[in-house]
Amino acid sequence: WGVGLAEGQAPTHKTHPLTWRLFHHDAVLKLADYLALKGFDGLKIALSKTPKEVGEMIKAANVRGRGGAGFNAGLKWTFMTPPDGGVRYLVCNADEMEPGTFKDRLLMERLPFQLIEGMLISAYAIGASAGYIFIRGEYILAAERLQNAIDELLANNLLGDNILGTDFSFDLHVHTGAGRYICGEETALINCLEGRRANPRTKPPFPQVSGAWGRPTVVNNVETLNNMSAIMINGVDWYLDLPKAKGKSETPGTKIMGVSGRVKDAGLWEVPFGYTARELIELAGGMQDGLTLKAWLPGGASTDFLTASDEHLDLVMDFDPIMKAGSRLGTCLMMVVDETQDMVSLSKNLQQFFQRESCGWCTPCRDGLPWGVKILDAIDNGNGQDGDIDKLSELTRDLWIGKTFCAHAPGAMEPLMSAIKYFRPEFEAKISQNSNQTKGDA
Ligand code: NAD
Repeated sequence: WGVGLAEGQAPTHKTHPLTWRLFHHDAVLKLADYLALKGFDGLKIALSKTPKEVGEMIKAANVRGRGGAGFNAGLKWTFMTPPDGGVRYLVCNADEMEPGTFKDRLLMERLPFQLIEGMLISAYAIGASAGYIFIRGEYILAAERLQNAIDELLANNLLGDNILGTDFSFDLHVHTGAGRYICGEETALINCLEGRRANPRTKPPFPQVSGAWGRPTVVNNVETLNNMSAIMINGVDWYLDLPKAKGKSETPGTKIMGVSGRVKDAGLWEVPFGYTARELIELAGGMQDGLTLKAWLPGGASTDFLTASDEHLDLVMDFDPIMKAGSRLGTCLMMVVDETQDMVSLSKNLQQFFQRESCGWCTPCRDGLPWGVKILDAIDNGNGQDGDIDKLSELTRDLWIGKTFCAHAPGAMEPLMSAIKYFRPEFEAKISQNSNQTKGDA
């Protein structure tokens, strides 16, 4: 984790606010160990302020949502309907199902108290009295460790009624999902939490106005919530200054960035915003011997491919530069593709995933995604026809934002369209290999 430090320099809560505790313990699973490492200092500071002051600090810190969208978390909190005496919810989105993304699992398995402390600070700021950690069903170890942490906190007056002798009370529950990618979409997650079919809801109203059981609800990602304690301890200016360590980014804080695919040393690193794609691949030890980089997805399967060009490799891994280059930062866990990998098969594989994960609620997504897979399968198996690439582009127009109920289908088409944009000759070559196809009108 200790990236960017001089030889022998130990990471601290100031340099590596999300992971510094892991230098002292591989995983901090006992309350006593967490308390010895400034555990709950952030909560105590928060409770000494008014909820409004805490909310203003987080908004000023511009903690951009780490689930993938990058929306200012503190600003999101301000959209909550003002208190009316009824229950308000804080939900942690721990349904990490984006292919290639595994940062939240590590945070929950190794630092369960840090997430809960972040939730307590956030709940205090937004006036929530109940909360849920909606966790991916396969994350069995993380769910167990979170539940153990909750039990220990309940026994020590750090959860439940009148926390640390104050008026603030908060009940927290771990809710495991049943294995649906769409549950990561916040309104589908809320439906699932309520025991309904996990279809997305129309927005607006946003959950901050009408969320779980129709009550004001904030949904924040695991990594986002892990920032809260450090901001309370170190202050907003410190957080805003963190990217200055690299000098190339405007986005405050550090980020758990990662690389997977055909690199030597796939993994995760906590770094300040400002690292370029090239530098991240270097952190992963570079490409495996004998392999050459061909393409990469910046942050999960639902982002656009970028290439091995200097223009793309020198991009700063940050929300706005990656967006300007035609993709999205997403979760910032890169997936790296080498020259030996076939973009048609790879695209088909991704489309099969999105097709399977469609909730089936709206017709374009339910019927359009399988059609795309059918065309790709034909191309991949030597049965492609002239015009198939155009058909995929036409299909994308029907599956784009505004034509579908949620962002699932548009997200699915991003890697496909960018694969065609940058690697069209690979698709054309496979189509021209079809010896059975009828050539032209003649
Ligand atoms: P979004 O931009 O629609 O919303 C982001 C957040 O901001 C939401 O909480 C939303 O309520 C809030 N928001 C946005 N506009 C608002 C407004 N006008 N008023 C009030 N609140 C507003 O994005 P999204 O659909 O929540 O997330 C998409 C991202 O999720 C993609 O970037 C994708 O990379 C990522 N993703 C992550 C995973 C994962 O496993 N971590 C899985 C799939 C997708």
